[in-house]
Order: sequence, then C-alpha cells, then structure tokens
Amino acid sequence: MPRCNKSASCESSAWRPLDSVTTLFISDLHIDADSPAITRQFVHLLDGEARTAEALYILGDLFESWVGDDAADESQAAVIAALKSLTDSGVPCFVMHGNRDFLLGAQFCAMSGARLLPDPLIVTLYGEPVLVMHGDALCTDDRAYQRLRATVRDTEWQRQFLALSVAARRALAGAARVGSQAHTATLQYAIADVNPSSVAAALRTAGTATMLHGHTHRPAIHPLTVDGRACTRIVLGDWHTQGSLLRWDRGGPELVSLKR
Ligand code: MN
Repeated sequence: MPRCNKSASCESSAWRPLDSVTTLFISDLHIDADSPAITRQFVHLLDGEARTAEALYILGDLFESWVGDDAADESQAAVIAALKSLTDSGVPCFVMHGNRDFLLGAQFCAMSGARLLPDPLIVTLYGEPVLVMHGDALCTDDRAYQRLRATVRDTEWQRQFLALSVAARRALAGAARVGSQAHTATLQYAIADVNPSSVAAALRTAGTATMLHGHTHRPAIHPLTVDGRACTRIVLGDWHTQGSLLRWDRGGPELVSLKR
C-alpha cells in the first residue's frame, strides 16, 4: 500500500509511495535584482516540483551577492518568502555557502526556514553516500582565488566586515565583483575548472564513489577512477540562461535543464 511521505502531500493530490520520493539539488542561481527571470523560475520550482520532494539542497551561490542577513533587497526577500513557504509546508531545505553568499547566517535561516550545511559534507541518498561541496575549494589551480577564499572565510574578517554599514558593505562587495570578473577573464579555461588531483584527494578523504558540486557552471556527469575505484563527479549548472536541476531517487541521479 502506498504511503504518503508527509502530511502536506496528503492534502494535495500528490500521493506518492515512499520509494518514488525524490531529493532535489540546485546551485549557482545567482539571484539578483537585475535578473528577475531567474527569481521567477526559482519561485516556480519552489511552489511546484519542490513541494513533492523529500528535501531541497542548494549547493551555494543561491544569491549573486549577500552582504549580511540584515541587508536583503527586494528580490532576495521574495526568494526568502518562497523558501519559507516551502519549509512551512514540511519540505526541508538545506543551503551550503557559495563564494558569493558565504555570509548567509542564522537570521537568514530563521527567515527562510532553511538550514545551513558545512562544506564539504557527506549525504546518504537512498543508501549511497555522496560527497557534496560547493566546488570552489576544488579549483586549486587558481591560487589567487584560494588566497581570497581563505581571507573571507576567516571569522575575524567576517566580524569586521559585518560591523560596517550596509552601504559600505554593498560598496565593497560591488568592487570585489568587478575585481573577480576581471580576474576570471584573465584565467585560462582549465585554471577556472576543478583540479583533477584535488577532486581525487577529496574522494579519497571522503571514501565515497560519488561527488556532487556546482560553482564551475559546467553541468555534466563525469566518470573517473580514483586509486582503481570507479567514481562519478556530478556537476550542477548555473541558472543564467536556464535552470539546472539534479533529481535523485532510488533509481539514481538525473541531471536536467529547466527551460524558460
Ligand atoms: Mn561559486
């Protein structure tokens, strides 16, 4: 006999047996007031397919910029309200920091009902342990970026930054974005991608056969071998021109584009 996975589904027509439940993964939406189509598509996902999911994981860079939980703009507030509606309906939502929104904190969690995840993390999906990351830590050929990452992930740096006025934080973040775009433009294609040794090291340390990340905006499922073990690296895409979604159920992962 089919069982309902949660009461919210039982109230709708979406009766689903437990073994057909799907976990959803997305990343790199880069929600921004200048890109309302992305916000609309994301809210559509939250109000639609996500309602029948077992959980929604957002693996970093949900927002193009996040200068503190006290500084959300209108497009960010709309997303937070839609997340709250999803979590209130009983679907858990988990958020990992990206390199754009690493300042998401406790107040964001309280407003959205989402929970923050550490990076890296092992998530067990239908019996399979999967290493989950944003992905920026794997781009070790970009030394300048790794130095910046170490600085801005420092607790004392974050404390000092968050003590500035919202206007000052926005100005600094804007300047950092311009600098980041200029830096990225100088990088060779391979340097902006993950480093194969770092990928192998991460899989070796985690002891999993599968890893899942975003960040590089190069959606794909890559087979690879680590110490003679057959492994898989799944990369989520960004949402700049379409949505990118990974559905994972008992049958395994399915990476799809969501047209708009
Ligand atoms: Mn990123």
